[in-house]
Amino acid sequence: MIIVLRPEAEQRDSDEILSLIEKAGLKPLYMPGVERVVIGAIGDERILKKFHIESHPMVEKVEEILSPYKLVSRDMKKTDTVVPFGKDGIGGNRFIVIAGPCAVESAAQMKKAGAAVKAAGAAGIRGGAYKPRSSPYSFQGMGLDGLKILKDVSLETGLPVVTEIMDQVEAEEAMPYVDAFQVGARNMQNFRLLTELGQLNKTVILKRGMSATITELLLAAEYILNEGNPNVVLCERGIRTFETSTRNTLDLSAVPNIKKHSHLPVIVDPSHGTGVRDYVAPMAFAAAACGADGIMIEVHPCPQEAESDGQQSLNLTQFEDFMKKLKPFALAAGKTM
Ligand code: PEP
Ligand code: MN
Repeated sequence: MIIVLRPEAEQRDSDEILSLIEKAGLKPLYMPGVERVVIGAIGDERILKKFHIESHPMVEKVEEILSPYKLVSRDMKKTDTVVPFGKDGIGGNRFIVIAGPCAVESAAQMKKAGAAVKAAGAAGIRGGAYKPRSSPYSFQGMGLDGLKILKDVSLETGLPVVTEIMDQVEAEEAMPYVDAFQVGARNMQNFRLLTELGQLNKTVILKRGMSATITELLLAAEYILNEGNPNVVLCERGIRTFETSTRNTLDLSAVPNIKKHSHLPVIVDPSHGTGVRDYVAPMAFAAAACGADGIMIEVHPCPQEAESDGQQSLNLTQFEDFMKKLKPFALAAGKTM
């Protein structure tokens, strides 16, 4: 930690901070300059948090050297983590595709989607049973009946399934039916939910909040790891910007950014990231090329009849066609498919 004192700070202010650092068990460094004093603290600066040095009246600024998260950090673990999901997991050298409708609407719809995404080469199926809708008047999902359909389709296809849960009760209800929980953008900072998921033995796909920074996303993941569940996949799904021609602005720089700072796998959701069907495939190719570990993509047997997100869903032939073109992009980034 580097602490810059205000120009009017006196010797006793320096002494006070130096002794605080020493008391915390870190090595203090005193660097008086011409105009102001700079103080260094060598050691695990996170111990200093409780002293609130930044709020000392004679402190101008505090620069932290270490990241505020630990367990998710690349400093903690140099190698890429592979998180359990189906046969091969998510992360490492593989590029995987999870596909399916935004919401489970019927057994027939889900079975059609499941069979088609499996035939096209997907490694997992998605489908929402509890839907976090912006309006209370929109379709809210099939709940438990939807979970049962997901389980049937998983058994039929042999593919693992992902579903979103919004609270602890839904997580416990969905536990026996699905292979991974999705924490949606709207719940990325629902810390009670993250804590609960940290205590369950289930893979979590944690989506970036629509106005969350990368550091906030990593801190949210830290909540889950801190409770003992190491199986977290991070998902970039676009952020809110001033641009209105797309639903969100897909921040693909998040992929190398997260990979630099964390060992956890990163996937991209180009469907919510753009909100426009025509932009989904190009952004999915770009996600593969920039080193993502996979994509999660919305596919519906009949998008024009979808209860939610039809405008950004590929139909089954569009998905099949897309999958045929995907491999070179993953290979270019050094991944296998
Ligand atoms: C979804 O995956 O259908 C969804 C609601 O995603 P997000 O939380 O990213 O909006
Ligand atoms: Mn959706």
